[in-house]
Amino acid sequence: MNPFEERKKRDEVIRKAMSTIKHIVAVGSGKGGVGKSTVAANLAISLANKGLKVGLADADVYGPSIPTLFNIPKAEIYATKEDDKEWMLPMEKYGIKLMSIGFMVDEKSPLIWRGPMASNALTQLLSETYWGELDYLILDMPPGTGDIQLTLVQTFNPTAALFVCTPQQVAVADVRRAIKMFDNDDIKVPILGLVENMAYFTPAELPNNKYYIFGKDGGVRLAEELNIDFLGQIPISCSVSESNDNGVPVSVNKGTIEANAFEQLANKVIEKIN
Ligand code: ADP
Repeated sequence: MNPFEERKKRDEVIRKAMSTIKHIVAVGSGKGGVGKSTVAANLAISLANKGLKVGLADADVYGPSIPTLFNIPKAEIYATKEDDKEWMLPMEKYGIKLMSIGFMVDEKSPLIWRGPMASNALTQLLSETYWGELDYLILDMPPGTGDIQLTLVQTFNPTAALFVCTPQQVAVADVRRAIKMFDNDDIKVPILGLVENMAYFTPAELPNNKYYIFGKDGGVRLAEELNIDFLGQIPISCSVSESNDNGVPVSVNKGTIEANAFEQLANKVIEKIN
């Protein structure tokens, strides 16, 4: 098979795999450590809390977070057969379907894949997963802008993308580059906007007080500068990091300040996509 035929065949497989998914929402960031995976996971759970069918795909090949966030360190992946093709069955937890490269590799053995190898592995992993009918597939992108990110955008052509930043993120350039990747001449993925994570601190005993320990409205200004919508603020909180570490993201327990912040984000995402 020549490379063109090969590409055509691969595209067909991907189209078929994705045909049961209504919306793919990519969650990206200019740099790592801003809480992109935390936002992706809690957004997915908040959407599922509304009775929607949701999947979460961990495309952060060098630092997969889903195994930790959902406490599924290593999983037995089962297969199913349809149309003479083998599909991987995603894991399921808190009402959402999950797939991560981290389910298949030992946490202790670091991934040393080079760009094209990582892109191919990710494309295969995500497009050979038996997602079934989904309202939303949340795609936790690798941070930054490289070949892997570009391949993911081109291959999966998300319905929309949103970005996560922190208040201290003074450098606009890296977020701008990330946005450009979704909004270029070949692919025009609509940008939903910017989420400011770790925006303020609220003590549990003073729920109406907000302390902007890293400065106020850094995200609002960044969104203005980038000319994109501002989607809201997520507080910095011990319960977010503790529940991440325990494998029960905050949004699993509804009604807390943190879960409400993610729920508002989910409402915005639904409203804007509709
Ligand atoms: P990224 O995907 O951008 O690399 P993560 O979601 O893995 O970032 O988060 C990085 C670290 O920050 C994790 O230890 C996570 O638990 C913590 N974290 C993320 N968001 C918050 C928050 N709102 N409050 C407290 N800790 C947070």
